[in-house]
Amino acid sequence: MVRAVFPGTFDPIHYGHIDIARRAAKLFDELIVAVYDRPLKNLLFSPQERLQQVTEAFSTDNNIKVVSYQGLTVEFCRKIDAQVMVRGLRVFSDFELEFRMALTNNHLDPGIEVVALITSEKYTFLSSTTVKEIASLGGDISGMVPQSIHWAVSRKYSEINQ
Ligand code: ADP
Repeated sequence: MVRAVFPGTFDPIHYGHIDIARRAAKLFDELIVAVYDRPLKNLLFSPQERLQQVTEAFSTDNNIKVVSYQGLTVEFCRKIDAQVMVRGLRVFSDFELEFRMALTNNHLDPGIEVVALITSEKYTFLSSTTVKEIASLGGDISGMVPQSIHWAVSRKYSEINQ
């Protein structure tokens, strides 16, 4: 049985993430979407909000589970007995970061393989940052995120702007 982990911040989750997770779930027996609890960056949503949003996004997917985690991703993989870490690659600029992270993780635990899936063409330029930028300026993000995320992002910006 091969268990894979797809780690990320998911602030918020969008169709690019969902596409990678569903494609990865076809390749492995079980996919754990792991929501990173406290990254060193400013986030729009709390860990609990992101966990709840990601859980809802995959509520109908049989072999996808959603959990949150803290600390090193390789340690989390070891703890849950996952052999593979899944990442998504969009534009060329992602490559350098992902390459560096994969080598670092391999140094920390050579037993965990990193599998990078290339984005589907229509999601090439989709990122959580883009979603937030557009939403914060009142633009339409309905083609980028599921409906419930659309509402959550709009609600958050209307709270911030009050
Ligand atoms: P992180 O903070 O770890 O980069 P993200 O939530 O931004 O977390 O992304 C998680 C993973 O999803 C990363 O591997 C990222 O490259 C990938 N990803 C993000 N957007 C897309 C997209 N549009 N298409 C494919 N992969 C993507």
